[in-house]
Amino acid sequence: MEYIISSRRYDPGELILKSKPYMRIIRRDLWDIICACCLKRSSELKRCSSCKIMKYCGVTCQKEAWKDHKFECPFLPGYVDGRQHFIVQLVGNLILKTKGKNWKSITEDVNGQRFSFDGLKYHNFPKMRLPWFRIAFKEIETALKSYVGEENMPDEETLLQLIGKVECNSYKFGGDDYDGWALFIGASKFDHSCVPNANIHFSGTDIQVRAFKKIEKYEKVTFSYSPMFALSDVATLHLSMKHSFGEGGCYCEDCSQPYGQSLLTKILDPVRALPILEETESNLLLAALMSKCKYPMQLISQERLNQLLKKQEGVLGDTNVLRIRLLALKCLLLDGNYCEMREELMTLASWVKLAWGEYFEELAEIYKKLIEINTYLGDTTSCLYYSDELIRLKAICIGKENVMKETCRHILNILKSSPLSLL
Ligand SMILES: [Zn+2]
Ligand SMILES: [Zn+2]
Ligand SMILES: [Zn+2]
Repeated sequence: MEYIISSRRYDPGELILKSKPYMRIIRRDLWDIICACCLKRSSELKRCSSCKIMKYCGVTCQKEAWKDHKFECPFLPGYVDGRQHFIVQLVGNLILKTKGKNWKSITEDVNGQRFSFDGLKYHNFPKMRLPWFRIAFKEIETALKSYVGEENMPDEETLLQLIGKVECNSYKFGGDDYDGWALFIGASKFDHSCVPNANIHFSGTDIQVRAFKKIEKYEKVTFSYSPMFALSDVATLHLSMKHSFGEGGCYCEDCSQPYGQSLLTKILDPVRALPILEETESNLLLAALMSKCKYPMQLISQERLNQLLKKQEGVLGDTNVLRIRLLALKCLLLDGNYCEMREELMTLASWVKLAWGEYFEELAEIYKKLIEINTYLGDTTSCLYYSDELIRLKAICIGKENVMKETCRHILNILKSSPLSLL
């Protein structure tokens, strides 16, 4: 398997890759309200004169987007939205853009390494034999025919590969409530690690990959494909560790180490560990299920979590991911006594720093919560301290040029909603 290797030494915050998607689509319900290039929301957008569907904030954006939009432009007016909008439109656009081309000749260079569209990994779909998969495939195929036209449809094997490549490699871009999906060639070649050294960020539809730790020359550059202590997406939290629940499973270098020996699986007392690991996992699983089913998280009581954390003391290492996740669940998702929460959040921050480094992007959630709590407690000094920490962290993670607007807006919102109103 070919992965991206660092061609030189990088310091935290340095940009490793900035790249445009090979193809992107905008979420259908946003076609009318955002610029299909820079994603700006505005009431002054102008429609493409040809399809009269996509909108742009100006000529520069329209020209910039044309290299991708020209493929979909003739077909959008006749496009009827189906259930599989994301797959159908992205695969449809790829069919049109790659038509008649050798996939090996569609390439992108990253760090002196050349990667091709042909080399993008994809699911092999042995499930094609399964009835439910054939039904889903037929549905996509029919929708695609009506989108790009019968004459543009590739053979079944090519179509399966395209769907597989999109499923394996596409990214959502644009904030929490994403604006669309994109497929990148070079950026798809970064390997996953549960203890990564880089992170990704989007600026418009462009992807940026940045080092958040020191990366040596010839070191593999990795980022994490799923959140590590699951702040917004608790439901996925157990999927990334092979020793948790046996589901999914991760084969990154850290997870491949024998249980108990990596930073994230550290165990201090192997004799007492097993029942505590099981109890922790079942509580995390319960939290994941509750959040997935939109049950209130409060059903897991602070008291229960306290007892469990107490049991973990001296048994699981402080950087054991199950210990970190449990504490994160306790102080980020459930409300408690402010003074107690502040202490626990500070403990959580120190564990996370030990495990993933001081510029690990998920620390932002802890800092935001600390700003909020210190505001409520009227502790202006601590509030400003964590605001500084948040800005410093974000500057490394997403770049100084992107940090001010995003982070300041967030801090201002917290301060404005505070009962003391420090502003
Ligand atoms: Zn624009
Ligand atoms: Zn158009
Ligand atoms: Zn892993």
